[in-house]
Amino acid sequence: MESSEPFIRSGQLKRFLDIIFPRRCILCDSPHDGDTETICPNCMDKIPLIRGPACARCGIPFKITYSIEESLNYLCGECRNSPPLFDRALSVCQYDETVRDIISAYKYHNKPYIGKDLVSIILKFLDEKITELSPKLIIHVPLHIKRLKERGYDQAYILSEGIGRYLDIPVSYGNLVRTRYTAPQVSLSGGERMENVKGAFTVTDPSELKDRSILLIDDVFTTGATIRECVKVIKKAGARKIYVLTFARV
Ligand SMILES: [Zn+2]
Ligand SMILES: [Zn+2]
Repeated sequence: MESSEPFIRSGQLKRFLDIIFPRRCILCDSPHDGDTETICPNCMDKIPLIRGPACARCGIPFKITYSIEESLNYLCGECRNSPPLFDRALSVCQYDETVRDIISAYKYHNKPYIGKDLVSIILKFLDEKITELSPKLIIHVPLHIKRLKERGYDQAYILSEGIGRYLDIPVSYGNLVRTRYTAPQVSLSGGERMENVKGAFTVTDPSELKDRSILLIDDVFTTGATIRECVKVIKKAGARKIYVLTFARV
């Protein structure tokens, strides 16, 4: 027998469920029917997106009001003085109180499902830029196994997996590892952060990274100390290009 039109199609089911169990915003707790499950349109508008001119290397936004040609590849003072080890860093937004609350709910309050929304926000704003860079492998800044057990999920891996699946880029798992259990970077000053993560990462199978363009993913780019350590070992493994993608940057 031919199957008939399902009684409730997925769109209708979703609307029905929204009425019975309204989605609530993780930030303001108001019920909403916005594009993402966990952040209402009102709070979404508060996210400080990076859209204006920015450094062609590290992605830091320039504090200028006039527009500049992106193709001219202007660099910030820091990248001119001491260029970073990575080739390009991209972020969706700057790190302010709203973003801090989103990231903290995602990382510290057992809400791995927020990752799905972060992936769709990243793709909404950076899809084309990532595609232009055409990375051949995605890798994430990993948690130490002990922290992974405490948290139950690796927030940067969830982002990697979502982006890799959508853009059809293979995702590496378990090759870049954090060998040292370190104090959370958030509690430390700039200098302490560098010391804290020094030598904390290793690549177990360099052949996977050799001569390839790698996209390294993390949730937040803060002082860059953690990213720098990861980039160092990825470069040592022989990666051709290393791009960094984070949801937010300080
Ligand atoms: Zn809200
Ligand atoms: Zn820069």
